[in-house]
Amino acid sequence: MKIFSSITQLRHYLDFYRRKGDTIGLVPTMGALHEGHGRLVNEAVKSCNLTVCSIFVNPTQFNNPDDLANYPKQIEADKKLLAAKGCDAVFLPTVDEMYPDEKLGLAINFGQLEQVLEGEFRPGHFSGVGVVVSKLLNIVQPDIAYFGQKDLQQLAIINRLVKDLSIQTKIVAVSTVRESSGLAMSSRNLRLSKEEKVIASELYQAMLELKKSILMGVATARAIFETKEKLNELEGLRLEYLEIVNAHTMDAITDLSASENVSICTAAYVGKVRIIDNLYIKQED
Ligand code: AMP
Repeated sequence: MKIFSSITQLRHYLDFYRRKGDTIGLVPTMGALHEGHGRLVNEAVKSCNLTVCSIFVNPTQFNNPDDLANYPKQIEADKKLLAAKGCDAVFLPTVDEMYPDEKLGLAINFGQLEQVLEGEFRPGHFSGVGVVVSKLLNIVQPDIAYFGQKDLQQLAIINRLVKDLSIQTKIVAVSTVRESSGLAMSSRNLRLSKEEKVIASELYQAMLELKKSILMGVATARAIFETKEKLNELEGLRLEYLEIVNAHTMDAITDLSASENVSICTAAYVGKVRIIDNLYIKQED
């Protein structure tokens, strides 16, 4: 497996395979890899001739300096996981390599899509995501890029970005990988204690119950209210939002027939760690 920190050298390496007609898959990550990332790499290796994984803790998408400072890093373990999965190349740029002139501060406005849910609680986050993903897609020019449904709003943002900027890369969504408790795998889980992990898994259980009530015909507003009440009673968990949305526009919906793609989206603090999760209530094939 090749390791690159230079954009020029990575491009040079990829040009050779592209000229040969090989298909290139990209898996963008921030490292501290787990089996959720692993599933994205598996998909890329299965469908593409060459798989590139990027590991870059992008400072411009962090609205909270503590979150950035405490973001877990374990590069040697990451390399091992990627090599075992059959990844061909890892792109590990420095901040200077990605942002040679940070004064420029390019921003992308995603309109209503970035005003709600994560966007409301993390101002500027999606602009940072949009810029870094645009850069990675420009650098690697992959045929396919893989993203997790774990970050459902991010997926909507990226689909929008690729469409609006006429980027040719196909975006493939991969379903969320969970621990046996139901807790969605996340790099930030490394910062949770054993007890906090148990509390965090309640979020998924609450979404399962909410989905069940809604499918049984309980009115959405009432079902959400009851789920929030239950979660608010949990010691050690501080709910930020819990909503039922159109999974493409992220607009809140009360009438399930209004969309073919409906999901519960939620975010909460467990101790000092902020976790997000979602669960489809209805999904197009
Ligand atoms: P991150 O390193 O957290 O920025 O995540 C990199 C990619 O992996 C994103 O597309 C995430 O949505 C995806 N991802 C993270 N956790 C999971 C998971 N538990 N299951 C599936 N995909 C995930």
